[in-house]
Order: sequence, then structure tokens, then C-alpha cells
Amino acid sequence: MKHIYEQKLVGLWLDKPAVEKIHQGGCCCGSIRYQVTGEPVIVAHCHCQDCQRISGAGHTTGAMFNIADVEISGEPGEYVLEANNGNQVTKGFCRNCGSPIFGRNSGSVEHITLSLGTFDDSSYFDPEVVIFSRNKKHWDITDDSLPGFDTQPDWKPDNKP
Ligand SMILES: [Zn+2]
Ligand SMILES: [Zn+2]
Repeated sequence: MKHIYEQKLVGLWLDKPAVEKIHQGGCCCGSIRYQVTGEPVIVAHCHCQDCQRISGAGHTTGAMFNIADVEISGEPGEYVLEANNGNQVTKGFCRNCGSPIFGRNSGSVEHITLSLGTFDDSSYFDPEVVIFSRNKKHWDITDDSLPGFDTQPDWKPDNKP
């Protein structure tokens, strides 16, 4: 009880929800499960070619969180690729069913991006931005009213659009 009470006090001071929402998700077969507390730093559609291959669709949609707020159970496989800017991008997936679960970027090690479609209830989230829109295919329609970037913008959590 004491713990909850302290959280409420902090919530009042910071003008945030008193008790942070918990989101859960996992892969198609259930081998990988995760839990997230707190709000995403940003939710983005990405049309880069790697995301097209990994999703098998026109884009991925991911919610970026502070890595300290995310707990993953199970043993995801990892595939590392090099981004255009030289950063290493690690894609985590279920070794059993192949669901893409997360992405991490060596340029932002304190964050992890979870595939929005793997949340048990993704209806809570709203995409805020479209990146790598130069790779967007005519058959893949995302919301035109969202801010778009030709490639990866240089935003950080402090200066997001
Ligand atoms: Zn699985
Ligand atoms: Zn991408």
C-alpha cells in the first residue's frame, strides 16, 4: 500500500497518471511474452526496406520505450544488421513462430522498440510519425496527416516532432 501511495504522490507532482499503465504482448505461439510499464517515447511507422522484408508487408509499426520499462520472457532470436548511418540494428524475433518482437539500435541503447501488432491490445497506441517515407509503396497506405521523414530523422526523445 505504501508503495502505491508514494506512486500517487509522485504522480501528482509530475502530473502523470498515478499508477502507470501496464501493457502486455507476445509472439504468435506464446514462447515470447513481454510486459511494459510507462508510456512510449514515440510510435512510428517505418517503410525502410529492412522493415519491409522483416514484416513481409509495406512497413513495420513500432512503439519505442525506455528499455528499463520493458521485461521480456522467453529466448528471442536476434539478427543484427547495419543501418545506413552505420548504427547496428538488432531485430528480435521468436525462434519458433518467427514473429518480429523488438528492435534495438546501437545509436540509442537506452531504448527498445516493440512491434505494435504483438501487443495483446494495441488499440491504446496511436502512430505519431512516418519514417523512410521515400521507400513507401503505392499499395501501402498510412495516414497522410502524420509528420513524415524521407529517412531516419535525427530525433531523440527530447526533441521528437
Ligand atoms: Zn512464437
Ligand atoms: Zn525500418
